[in-house]
Amino acid sequence: MLGQMMTAPLLISSLIDHAARYHGATPIVSVETAGGQTVTTWGGVAENARRLGSALTAMGLEPQARCATIAWNNRRHLEIYFGTSGAGFVCHTINPRLFPEQLVYIINHAEDRVLFIDETFVPLVARLRDQFTTLKAIVLMGPMTEAAAQAIPGILSYDDLVAGGDPAFEWPQFDENTASSLCYTSGTTGNPKGVLYSHRSTLLHSFAGNTADGLAISARDVVLPVVPMFHVNAWGVPYCAAMVGAQLVMPGPNLDGESLVRLIDGERVTIALGVPTIWLGLLGHAKAAGSRLESLQRTVVGGSACPPSMIKTFRELYGVDTIHAWGMSEMSPLGSVNRPLAKHRDLPEAEQHRLRESQGRAPFGVEMKIVDEDGQDLPHDGKSQGDLMVRGHWVLDSYFRMGDQPILRDGWFATGDVATLDEDGYLTIRDRSKDIIKSGGEWISSVELENIAIAHPQLQDAAVVGVPHPKWDERPILVAVPAPGETPAPEDLLAFYDGKIAKWQVPDKVVFIDVLPRNATGKVLKRNLRDQFSDILTG
Ligand code: ADP
Repeated sequence: MLGQMMTAPLLISSLIDHAARYHGATPIVSVETAGGQTVTTWGGVAENARRLGSALTAMGLEPQARCATIAWNNRRHLEIYFGTSGAGFVCHTINPRLFPEQLVYIINHAEDRVLFIDETFVPLVARLRDQFTTLKAIVLMGPMTEAAAQAIPGILSYDDLVAGGDPAFEWPQFDENTASSLCYTSGTTGNPKGVLYSHRSTLLHSFAGNTADGLAISARDVVLPVVPMFHVNAWGVPYCAAMVGAQLVMPGPNLDGESLVRLIDGERVTIALGVPTIWLGLLGHAKAAGSRLESLQRTVVGGSACPPSMIKTFRELYGVDTIHAWGMSEMSPLGSVNRPLAKHRDLPEAEQHRLRESQGRAPFGVEMKIVDEDGQDLPHDGKSQGDLMVRGHWVLDSYFRMGDQPILRDGWFATGDVATLDEDGYLTIRDRSKDIIKSGGEWISSVELENIAIAHPQLQDAAVVGVPHPKWDERPILVAVPAPGETPAPEDLLAFYDGKIAKWQVPDKVVFIDVLPRNATGKVLKRNLRDQFSDILTG
């Protein structure tokens, strides 16, 4: 016997309809690429999304045609998120920091039909456009400029396209498993691989994101997604915010500490989300400028391990709760969020703080386990360390247009991370499996060594990598970026590890560098560091 309840497909168009109906007047602040700030509303975003959906439909695009974006976090990008997916097309966000050849590969592999670009990327696209094989139209996100019209003949104006669209356009209804958006992982080896999200996975991910033990975004929040919209759909924040009618502040192209502090203070932001490096810049500026970040209640930090010293600074100097989260493109991205349990309430404060440092627990909808090299399950005891496997409603099944290459193991996706899980399900990421340091048969977590180094007051940034060693196969070295005006002594940096970790884990050497090499999503390129310093212990 079936239940006798209504069913309706879980579609992204229903999110923007809800935001428009019940939160139509809620402001959406947007820093424009050309400079200055504009304010629209959820109602305005919804109207333009419908207009855009109708204009794209009138272009004769086939269902699920890929519509790509190379753009910052701004209100037009938000309209494109809802307008493309809502009308049954696939919103394909592209990271502009990819190498040009990867960008060309991605656009051709996805068979993108329309490419929306911010003005910043006109020169880049003008240079590469002859190599794009499937595009029907390139659209400038804004009014037309002479420079753009000259650089890319035939380029359309987004504002004209939207103005010509129908505000009464009816969203089509279709199967909730239909593809909605596409994001390629930046992949440090080989070609980038596409993760194709569905309407259903996106809505379920949004429900989980908005739970109290998730990101808990509500109608009372002013949300600053610093995480780019080209990085796993800004962690799903645009959808979560529409679902509850939260106010959004879209930061545009400038993500430096000064710009972010100005936005947070000026717009009374309550929650901001981004990768650790962004917050290093912000904390540096807030201190220099004497800002109290008064409105800010919480930050969500993920993408790379959040150093415990950052959680402490946010808490002690600004009264901000840092929520450490873990995820990946293949998981839409939410995998775990660090929130306490009821039984933690009576623990000593120091212990409560320590518990907030891990990557947190899986929300309903995600399952996790760790396995050894033979694929055998390992205990969840907080000590056993193994390959992290996941499955769930918003975890990928296979990569886009690689469906003939099965990637799951017994229905589980191998994350490529090495981790521990404790009795309560708290996840601690020890390393990417390719970055873990193997010294004389023992494993050393580079993340743990980095977290300690970064707390040293004379350092601005730090990475730890394993390099060849004649006796131990591999030993850790500390690659340190001094704080401005500081010249730390290597022996002081190494002495900083005393009493914090076992002696044999302390790095063998310190090397200084001006800036750490990072990939397109802000992760340290450890392979480059390993190559650069490969003979430092042997040569
Ligand atoms: P890419 O940078 O290739 O696009 P993702 O953004 O999907 O890839 O990165 C996912 C990986 O980032 C995870 O597998 C993990 O190694 C790392 N990561 C994400 N969040 C955290 C975190 N909070 N702590 C440690 N590592 C993290």
